[in-house]
Amino acid sequence: MTGFAVWSGTCPHCGRENTSFDSVAQALVESVAAGKGTRWNVFFMCNACKGGLVVDIISTEGFGPHGLNENLLVPGTHYVSHQTVEFFVIDTHPKPPAHLAPDHVPERIAAAYIEASENLHRKRHETSQMLSRKALDLATKRLLPESQKWLKGRIDELRDAGKITPEMGEWAHIVRDDGNISVHDENEVTREEAAELLAFTETFLMYAFTLPGMIAKRRQPADESEQAAVDS
Ligand SMILES: [Zn+2]
Repeated sequence: MTGFAVWSGTCPHCGRENTSFDSVAQALVESVAAGKGTRWNVFFMCNACKGGLVVDIISTEGFGPHGLNENLLVPGTHYVSHQTVEFFVIDTHPKPPAHLAPDHVPERIAAAYIEASENLHRKRHETSQMLSRKALDLATKRLLPESQKWLKGRIDELRDAGKITPEMGEWAHIVRDDGNISVHDENEVTREEAAELLAFTETFLMYAFTLPGMIAKRRQPADESEQAAVDS
């Protein structure tokens, strides 16, 4: 049997965390100076989605972790062919996408948005849609603390008050007021629907928090260097 290396981590393709990857090939990159060590590009495949991943690995010996007599976890120390070898993981490519909220979005709202984005990446469309709605719900309540209306009504109110553009108001037709979306089967929410709601949410948050935050920052320079940049 030909052994392979096993690496565990977050898959940049399907978004699963702590998922395992098996190596399919390796290429020697270089010998590591001042020793018998070697550096390898090891090509892995996600066991869940078959997506590819290249892991940059240093070996303390002249061989890489793929194609040995047994399967070996990397990073790790192993006893192979009567010698001890250590494999270090330097880097992985590609990286899982970073899920970030737009600037100046209050923490709880940003957390809901980031979770919506992560769940969309993991193909949990219904959960993503629910969390986008949660972010919008928290955001509109913060902007209109007195309003008694449902989410869609608050968005219309913000449009009428000129807090969001008429185009955003029109786009808001995708935000429905049926609070029971979660009783549906996960498959009933398509990727497109969840992705569009997330895009709407992101744009909404930028209008509601990012732009006002940027303007406030520009009008009150935090330090002299910013003032100098404005003056010059
Ligand atoms: Zn995967």
